[in-house]
Amino acid sequence: MTPIDGKADTILSGGPIWCGLAQGTAEALALRGGKVLAAGRLSDVEMLAGPGTRRIDLRGRLAIPAFHDAHMHLMSLGRRAKRLDISPGAVSSVADIVQLVGVRAQSLAPGTWITGSGYDHDRMVGKRHPTRWDLDKVSPDHPVWLGRCCGHMGVANSAALKLAGISRDTPNPPGGVIVRENGEPTGLLQERALEVMQEAMPAPKIEELVEAIELAGQRCLSHGIGSVMDACVGIVGGWSDVEAYEAAERAGRLPVRVTMALGGGGLAGIAEEAFAKGYLTGKGSGMLRVGPVKFFTDGSAGGCTAAMSKPYTNGDLGVLMFSDRELDEMVGHYHHRGFQVAVHAIGDAAIDQTIRSFDKACADGTCSHRRHRIEHCGFIDERQMGEMQRLGLIPAPQPVFVRDFGDTYLNVLGEQRSAGCYPMARWQRRGFRPAMSSDTPVSDVNPFVNLYAALARTTLGGEVLGAEERLTLAEALSAYTENGAYACGVDDRLGTLEPGKVADIAVLNGDPFQAGVADLKDVEADLTLLAGRVVFDRQGEVR
Ligand SMILES: [Zn+2]
Repeated sequence: MTPIDGKADTILSGGPIWCGLAQGTAEALALRGGKVLAAGRLSDVEMLAGPGTRRIDLRGRLAIPAFHDAHMHLMSLGRRAKRLDISPGAVSSVADIVQLVGVRAQSLAPGTWITGSGYDHDRMVGKRHPTRWDLDKVSPDHPVWLGRCCGHMGVANSAALKLAGISRDTPNPPGGVIVRENGEPTGLLQERALEVMQEAMPAPKIEELVEAIELAGQRCLSHGIGSVMDACVGIVGGWSDVEAYEAAERAGRLPVRVTMALGGGGLAGIAEEAFAKGYLTGKGSGMLRVGPVKFFTDGSAGGCTAAMSKPYTNGDLGVLMFSDRELDEMVGHYHHRGFQVAVHAIGDAAIDQTIRSFDKACADGTCSHRRHRIEHCGFIDERQMGEMQRLGLIPAPQPVFVRDFGDTYLNVLGEQRSAGCYPMARWQRRGFRPAMSSDTPVSDVNPFVNLYAALARTTLGGEVLGAEERLTLAEALSAYTENGAYACGVDDRLGTLEPGKVADIAVLNGDPFQAGVADLKDVEADLTLLAGRVVFDRQGEVR
């Protein structure tokens, strides 16, 4: 309850409160009516205490603005909990995957789909993808679809290929690849060939999607994340995705604040339908709002499908999903309709194409005000950075990819190109506001794994990629809080702890500013507050 006498309803003290990169650290924080009332010296903040003021004793722990994960896939994170876990932690070979599929097949009626996700062939014995023939041995009567960790490719068995109408006579769809051996599809489908498989699969029910949103949202709160951008709403069930988010909000089952990036073209686009129904960037509530329209222009660097200007070590250049003309049209179309636009571009060729499209769309000079974004933006050169700056484009990078995929980058791109990937420090020095994010379930939703990657730039194999691109902890925290809010257009309310801003706060289990970089991986959130309300309490410490 908000005291009527102008006093604070809550005071946090007893530990450092990091309020933002420019704001620095405060001794105490007063909240009132879900907002920050004051941040500063303990003696000053104490003057706002009244008899009814609730106290949160930090006991030396650090409090920060709640994390803002500006590029992730909330619904997919929740749905993954129900799929076969074939991530590197769960399997180490194709044989392990085949065994898991076989066990699942025995418990399901013939004809029922078996889905799994998260495999990384580069981190398995033999470094190869499963094939339809591997899977057919244990599941001749169940259609099977297994997604790779990057989300840009996956493997189907023969039953699934048949349902999708894919045979040796099927040509590659535009922007997609049906991988073949002696002309016969191996089951591996890449990029826009995934759409064909998606259409063959049964549509998920709204209630299933709401469950996924709730489950994943709770998980976010447990990591101190208060806000996210779902980076491709529509990719799971088309318009049902929007309906599911709205149903979740109505039912009080939306645990975190969500900005919806509307899938705009290819991969189940819903942006046109959204516009026809009156949806536009910025509309919505404090919990659920419309963000950018999202396009994919290339794939992933680890899967060698990100579009590069120079070949991978295997001689490929990656995959551009659209021609220049197509992308110009799509970007221009949604820019002129008034949307923020977010374009997935990882390779330098895709980034170049994207910058050119924004340049044409924004000839009227409205680009920077719209906060258009390049998602991932992994392999970028100095000239492109200058162009992005001129156009006011925001990069939304994932330093955690250095940790998770850095060893693969070294294999497929060599040392020099890998070292310059996701150049966080260069962006920081140039005055960009990189919106650091997890892309979960591609990488871990846990922000501290990502923060560690931004500070250490160490791969899972122990190699350091581009030590000069390391951030300080304060810079990384800023990139994961206020920069996320900026990229999602909510920095007027969220992202820092300043008077008047919404009191979304994470209390950590220690003070990482006092600990070593390696200890970051063990940090977790003890408390998460949304608008001053305790929504996660690991130890049950707040009454
Ligand atoms: Zn993504």
